[in-house]
Amino acid sequence: MTAYVIAPPDVASLAVAGTSSRFPVRRIFCVGRNYAAHAREMGRDPDREPPFFFMKPADAVMDNGAAIPYPPETRNFHYEIELVVALSRGGADIAPEHALEHVFGYGVGIDLTRRDLQLAARDLGRPWDWGKGFDHSAPIAPLLPLALSGHPASGRIWLAVNGVIKQDADLAELIWNVPEVIATVSRSMRLAPGDIIMTGTPAGVGPIQRGDHVTGGIDGIGEINISVV
Ligand code: MN
Repeated sequence: MTAYVIAPPDVASLAVAGTSSRFPVRRIFCVGRNYAAHAREMGRDPDREPPFFFMKPADAVMDNGAAIPYPPETRNFHYEIELVVALSRGGADIAPEHALEHVFGYGVGIDLTRRDLQLAARDLGRPWDWGKGFDHSAPIAPLLPLALSGHPASGRIWLAVNGVIKQDADLAELIWNVPEVIATVSRSMRLAPGDIIMTGTPAGVGPIQRGDHVTGGIDGIGEINISVV
């Protein structure tokens, strides 16, 4: 048994629908601009340029129903509802036609964002980490195993703040679909069991404040709710 000089960290994990066993999270890959209308609202061209990625630390995951502390050093804290893909198998250079064989299941997540820090970094050519990869920034509802979820290629994806709909789109609008995203990541990094991918958000992103209650969902995959405290 390995001896450590300090206590090793707990394994970050997500709930799984229908079981008390949890999904261990290894890495969180996130797709930038993957819906045309959201690319436009961010002031960017939605042409089908190759997808790009950023990451969050695994321990940014939060369970459904979490009370999310309003993060420090921002005055523009945003929600982004997203389809989450959880991988049960790894691999490098995965072909799109085999990519879905690596999927454990799907979930509904919110890519919480310090938009002011993200955009300042973007405009200065600096990394996005401080805008995206902060504590508590990845609440994700219980994963739905493949046997229950199937592979969703379409279906409503929505988010509401205090009951008012802010994002309302369809998974069919993804610029890069799930097999293409898995294949693209695997060409740059060897994927591993436990990796999850947040696939990008549709249009309608906006700010949330302390006291706000955020709900969202994807047809056939589940619903999420968080509060900001
Ligand atoms: Mn996002």
